[in-house]
Amino acid sequence: MDTIFGKIIKREIPADIVYEDSDVLAFRDIDPKAPIHILIIPKKPIPTINDIEIEDAELIGKIVIAAKKIAKEMGIDQSGYRLVMNCNKDAGQTVFHLHCHLLGGRQLLWPPG
Ligand code: AMP
Repeated sequence: MDTIFGKIIKREIPADIVYEDSDVLAFRDIDPKAPIHILIIPKKPIPTINDIEIEDAELIGKIVIAAKKIAKEMGIDQSGYRLVMNCNKDAGQTVFHLHCHLLGGRQLLWPPG
């Protein structure tokens, strides 16, 4: 089933894309929760963390590598940032195409709500 993020990958709907390679796409969250709020997604449509298989291990690593590159490019690698992946209802997942939130540019609270 195609999701809104699948449509962004196919350029059927617009997004503010900040990074792309053969496996991964990253774009600004439409409703940012911090001065820097980027979503990093695999081009492969994996619905949730529960659907990740061992053969996806390298792909998941590439998401984290993309995140650290973007954080450096945006100048928050030293001040700090947070990576978040929500899974299903209790975590508040709303888009069922795996994504990693990169949040930074302000002091982030812990624990999250
Ligand atoms: P989650 O709640 O973890 O599933 O996160 C989904 C995120 O996608 C939310 O932070 C939304 O603001 C964001 N989002 C939804 N639609 C779009 C869109 N068209 N472009 C960019 N971000 C979006």
